[in-house]
Amino acid sequence: MHNRGCKRNKRRKCCYRIRKGFRRDGFMSVRHINTTEIKEKVDVVSLLKEYGFSQIEDNGEWINAICQFHDDTNPSFTIRKSDTKYHCWSCKVSGDALTLVMELDGVDFKSALSKLAIMTGYSLDSTEQNLLYLRKRWMNELKESRTNVVTLIDDERLLLLNNVAANYFRTELEKDLDAQAYLIHRGFVIPDVEDFHLGFCPYKGFAEYMQFMKFTYDELINSRLFGDYGYGLVPKFEGRLIFPIFGSVGKHVRGFSARAISEEQVPKYINSTNSEFYKKGHFLYGFEQATSKEPLILVEGNFDCIRMRIKGFNAVAQLGSALTPVQCKLLGQKCRTIVLLYDGDDAGKLMAFKNIPIMIENSLIPKVVFLPREEDPDTFVRYKGVKELTKLIDNSEDGLSYLVYCEGGCGGDDVSILSLCLKMISKAKDSVSKEYHTGVLSRLLPFSPEIIKAELKKV
Ligand SMILES: [Zn+2]
Repeated sequence: MHNRGCKRNKRRKCCYRIRKGFRRDGFMSVRHINTTEIKEKVDVVSLLKEYGFSQIEDNGEWINAICQFHDDTNPSFTIRKSDTKYHCWSCKVSGDALTLVMELDGVDFKSALSKLAIMTGYSLDSTEQNLLYLRKRWMNELKESRTNVVTLIDDERLLLLNNVAANYFRTELEKDLDAQAYLIHRGFVIPDVEDFHLGFCPYKGFAEYMQFMKFTYDELINSRLFGDYGYGLVPKFEGRLIFPIFGSVGKHVRGFSARAISEEQVPKYINSTNSEFYKKGHFLYGFEQATSKEPLILVEGNFDCIRMRIKGFNAVAQLGSALTPVQCKLLGQKCRTIVLLYDGDDAGKLMAFKNIPIMIENSLIPKVVFLPREEDPDTFVRYKGVKELTKLIDNSEDGLSYLVYCEGGCGGDDVSILSLCLKMISKAKDSVSKEYHTGVLSRLLPFSPEIIKAELKKV
C-alpha cells in the first residue's frame, strides 16, 4: 500500500515511513498506534504508584508489589516491565496495563486506552472503527497468553444469557404469588423494586425457556445458573427471589444474588459463584444507581440498599462482609465520604472495625453509624423514620476515631496506635483524605499536627 502520488523512485522511503507509522508529511499516523506500542511505553512503576500499589520492588525485568486486587499482606503481585503483563500468585488475577486500568478505575476499554495514551504521550485515533479494531487485536493477544481477565466482556453470549435470564426472572415475579407475598411481608410492593429489576426463579420452566431462547446445554452449565446432578438441568436459584447485580460499566447483568423466601430454604442467600466473568469482590449491589451526592451510605444487605434508596438516601450494599480494594475504588468514584451503616449487632460492629482500615488506605473518608441492637437500616428507617436516620447519619462517628477508640480499649498505647494509623494513612494517594485523617489523629492523640505530618512522611 502506497500513499497516493508515491513516485516509483521514492517507493522505498514511502513504504518505510508507513511501516514505521509516519505519514508522508512526517507526522505520526495515529492509525498505526496499537495497544502493544502504548503498553511498551508505559512507566510501570509510576502506573503502580498511581493505583496505590505499595512495597514496589523493582527487580529489573519484573516488579513485585502488594496486590491491589485482593487484601494482600506480602507482595504477591508481579508485573513484567516490557509488556505490562501481570499476575497475582494469591488471587490469581492476571492481565496487562489496560486491564489494570479497566479494573481499578472501573472503566471500559476506550477510557482505559485513552488514559494510557495520554500517560505515554500518544495521540489516539478514537473513532469507533479504530477502537473496535484495536480491542479485537488486543483481546486475541490476551487469549493467546491465556490471560484471566475479569472486566473483559469477551463472552458476549454469557452477557446475553444473563440479561435474558434477568428479564425472565422479572416476568416470573409478576406471576408468582408466594414471592409477591414475601415482598409484601418485607414491606415492599412490586413498583418499589421496579428500578432494581428484582425477579423470581420458579421451580419449573427456566431451563426450558433458556433452551427455547437457543442457549446450548454447555452455555447454560457455564453460566453457573444451572447444575446437572444426573437428572438434567437444575436451576441453582429455584424458588428464590433474585437480585441482579449490574456491572459498573453499562447496564449489563454480571451476576445474581438469590434470597430464600421461606424458613426451610437454607442458606438465606446464594450468590453467583466466582468466575472470570463475575467476582463478588469487584461489584457493589446498587452501584449502577448510586450518585455522587455525599455521603454515600454502605449497607450490608440488598434489601437495606433498596429501602434506603426508596427513602431518598444514596446507598449501595457490599455483597459479602470484607471490602476489597476494587470495591473501595468503586466507592471512591462516587464519593469520598462513605457512611458505614451496618446492622446493630456485634457482627456489624466487627465488620466496621475490619473495613475501616482498607477504606482509609484507599483514600476514602469512612464514617460509621451504630444502630440500636436488633435493628438494621431497613427496619430502622421504616419504624423510626427518615428524620431519625438522617440525624444519626449527620452525627456519624469518624471511622478513624472509632479505630483509635477500639485499639485504645484493647490496651494499645498512644505511640503504637499512632504508628498503626500512620501506616494506613500513608497508603492513601489523595492529599485531602490524608490531611483529614492527620487532623483527626491530632485531636485524638497527644501529638501536634506538625509531629504527625512529619512522622507520616517517614512511613
Ligand atoms: Zn491479588
